[in-house]
Amino acid sequence: MKKENWLKTLLSFAKPCKGKMTLSVLFAVISVAGGFVPYLGVYQIMKQFITGQRDWEEVLKWSGVCLLGYLIKIVFYGFSTVLSHISAYTILEGLRLKVADKLLKAPLGVVQSKSIGELKNIIVDRIESIEPPLAHMIPELSSNLLLPVAVVIVLFSIDWRMGFASLITIPFAAVPMAAGMKSFHKQYADYMAANDYVNSVIVEYVEGIEVVKAFNQTTSSYARFTEAVLSFQKFTLAWFQGTWKSMNLTMSILPSTFLGTLPAGLALYLQGALTPEEAAFCLMLAMGIVGPFLKAAQFINECKSMEFGVRDANEILHMAELKEEKQKREVPGFEVKLNQVSFSYRGEGKDMALKEVSLTLPEGSFTALVGPSGGGKSTIARLIARFWDVTGGSIEIGGADIRKLSLSQLSEMVSYVTQDNFLFDCSIKENIRIGNPKATEAEVLYAAKAAQCEEFIERLEHGYDTTAGEAGRQLSGGERQRIAIARMILKNTPIVILDEATAFTDPENEAKIQKALFSLTKGKTLLVIAHRLSTIQNADQIVVLKDGTIWEKGTQKELIENCELYRNMWKAHIGAKNWSVTAAEEKNRAVEG
Ligand code: ADP
Repeated sequence: MKKENWLKTLLSFAKPCKGKMTLSVLFAVISVAGGFVPYLGVYQIMKQFITGQRDWEEVLKWSGVCLLGYLIKIVFYGFSTVLSHISAYTILEGLRLKVADKLLKAPLGVVQSKSIGELKNIIVDRIESIEPPLAHMIPELSSNLLLPVAVVIVLFSIDWRMGFASLITIPFAAVPMAAGMKSFHKQYADYMAANDYVNSVIVEYVEGIEVVKAFNQTTSSYARFTEAVLSFQKFTLAWFQGTWKSMNLTMSILPSTFLGTLPAGLALYLQGALTPEEAAFCLMLAMGIVGPFLKAAQFINECKSMEFGVRDANEILHMAELKEEKQKREVPGFEVKLNQVSFSYRGEGKDMALKEVSLTLPEGSFTALVGPSGGGKSTIARLIARFWDVTGGSIEIGGADIRKLSLSQLSEMVSYVTQDNFLFDCSIKENIRIGNPKATEAEVLYAAKAAQCEEFIERLEHGYDTTAGEAGRQLSGGERQRIAIARMILKNTPIVILDEATAFTDPENEAKIQKALFSLTKGKTLLVIAHRLSTIQNADQIVVLKDGTIWEKGTQKELIENCELYRNMWKAHIGAKNWSVTAAEEKNRAVEG
C-alpha cells in the first residue's frame, strides 16, 4: 500500500472548508492577542500603585482595557471554535463518503477479507476519533502555543536574563520527557493493534451469540473473548505503569518556572536592572506560560489518535479499485461468453477455483450449473456480476469485455440473487424497491406477488410497511429469499443469475416460485445454480462443473445418457426425493392411524 502522510490526507479533505479553516486560525490568533491584553493592563494598574501615582482615572481606563481584551479573547475563541467544528465535520463527512465509495468500488474479495469488526472500527470509531482533536486543535493549539511564545518574547524584551530564567525548567523536564516519549509511537501502535483485536473479538462474540448459547458456553468459558479482554487490560496497565513516572516528573518540573524567574527577578531588582513593577510583571507573565503549555502537551496524544485514525482510513482509501469505463457503451446483445476464464481467490497460480473455463450462454437461453460443492459454480456467477475480476481470460456480454463497461451499466444488465439475502432495516416494501427505486407501488406489489411473498407479508402486523428489523426473526430464510427474488423481478434486467436462490424455500413454495420465475425470465439470458436437479431439467443446457473445469455439458437427456457423474447426481436426487415422499407418506399414515 502506498504510504501517504496522514496530515496530507486529512488536508486533502479540507478543500471545501479552506476559507473557514483559515478564518478559524485568524480568529484564534486574535483571541490570543486579546488574551494578552489583560496582562498588560494589570501591569499598568500595578505601576500606578507601586510608583505611588494612584491615578484612579488611569486605573479605570486600564480596567476597561483588560475587560475589552478579555471579551475579545472569549468572543473570537468562540468564533474560531465554531468554524473549526464546521471544518472538522466537513472533513469527516468527506472522509466517510470516500471510504463508503471505496468499499463499493473495490473487489468484493478485498472488502470481505476484512472482518465486520475491523471495518466498523475504522469507519465508525477511528474516523470519529479524528473529530475532537481536529475541531479543537486549530483554536486551542494555536492559542496554547502562541501565548507562551508571545509571553517569552515579551520577557526577553523586558530583560533577556528574565527571558532565559523563564525557560530554565525546560532542559530539566526534557530529560524525563524524552525517556517517556522514546517508544511512544511504537507503544501507541501496539495499543491500537490491541484495541483492534479486542474490538473484532467482541463483534465476533456478539455476531456468534447464537452459537455460543446453543453450545452452552458461558461468557467465561468463551476463552477467546475473555482472553482478549484480559490481555487488553494487561497491555494498557503495563503501558501506563511504564510511563507514569517519567510523565509525572515532566509535569511537575515543567510548570515550576518560579525556580528561575523568582531568584532572577529579585537579583535584577536588587541590582537596579528592573523596577519593582517590571519584576512583578515578569513573575506574573512567567506564570502565564505554564497552563497553556501543559494543555498543548495533551495534544501530543490527540495528534497520535488522529494520525492512527487517518492511517487506518488510508488503508481503505488506497484499496485497489475495479477499473471501469466511465462512459456507457453500446452493447448489441445479451449473450454471455466466458473465454478461457481462470480465477483464484488467492492470486495467480494459487488454488485455482476456475481453470480455463470457456462457456457461452446464448441470449435468451436457460443455462444451469450443477456439480459437486466447491466445483466453481458460484465463482462463475460472481465473476459475471463482476464482484471480482478474472485472473485469466475474459468475460463478454454482447461481445463487450465486462471490464470495459461501467459498473453501473453492468448492474443495469445483470441481476444476481444469492442464498445470502441481506435485508436493510427499512420496510419490506422499500426492501423490494431496492431492485428499482423508481418503481411504482403497483409494480412493487406485482413483484412481491410473483415471488410468492404476499402470503407471509400479510401475516406481518403492518404488512408491507413492517420494517425488516420489526419482522426480524419472524422471517424464515426462504421468506428472505423470496423478498430478494421480488427485488430481482422488479429490477427486470436482460441477464438473470440465480445462485441457489430458492435453496431455503420449502418444496411447495419452491414449485410456485419456479413457475413464476420461468415465466418472468422468458426471453432473458438465465443462469441458474441449483442443488435440486428437478428444478433445472428443462434447461437449454446443463453444465457440470467439477474442480474448476467443465466436466460435461448438454441437455438433461444427453447428460443422463453420456455423463456418469450427472447420472449419479440425478439418481441421488431422485432417490432423495422418493425418500422424502415416502417419509412424508409414512408420517401421514402414522398420524391418520
Ligand atoms: P461451488 O459454488 O461449486 O460450491 P465455489 O465457486 O463456491 O464452488 O468455490 C470454488 C472454490 O473456491 C472452492 O475451493 C472454494 O473453497 C473457493 N472459494 C469460494 N469462495 C471463496 C472465497 N471467498 N475466498 C477464498 N476461496 C473461496
